[in-house]
Amino acid sequence: MAAERCIFGRIGAGEIPCQRVFENEHVLAFLDINPLAEGHTLVIPKRCVERFEDLAPAEAVELALALVIVARKVLKVTGAAGYNILQNNGRIASQEVPHVHFHIIPRRADDGLGYRWKPQESDPAVLTALAQRIWDAAG
Ligand code: AMP
Repeated sequence: MAAERCIFGRIGAGEIPCQRVFENEHVLAFLDINPLAEGHTLVIPKRCVERFEDLAPAEAVELALALVIVARKVLKVTGAAGYNILQNNGRIASQEVPHVHFHIIPRRADDGLGYRWKPQESDPAVLTALAQRIWDAAG
């Protein structure tokens, strides 16, 4: 029995309507239904994949190619000064929809969105050891 598709899987399959802005064989981009800014766009693989690290390499390439195209299109139309690309994995990281999606969020001066970024002091020896462990880990 085939697994039931989540909402974005169903949007990707054309079963649920969306405001589409780009589409090819592998990727769909559409407007977020509750936008943080004008032009807030989601870019998804059509295949149901829950998390970024589960993407097949070729799918990741297709998404990267589409992201560049869609970012250019959104910037052109909104005239935004910049944008954030955000991609959440896991509920702890605020992923609500269990299907890989990249947010493209146009930014303007004084848009009130803010950005919480809390850098910490680091111990160089700890960073060196951690970098080595990640280097050695299977990818
Ligand atoms: P995340 O928290 O990263 O999982 O983001 C999920 C995003 O999907 C939110 O910004 C929602 O507004 C958006 N969203 C949920 N359902 C739909 C839908 N049917 N069409 C467009 N965007 C949606």
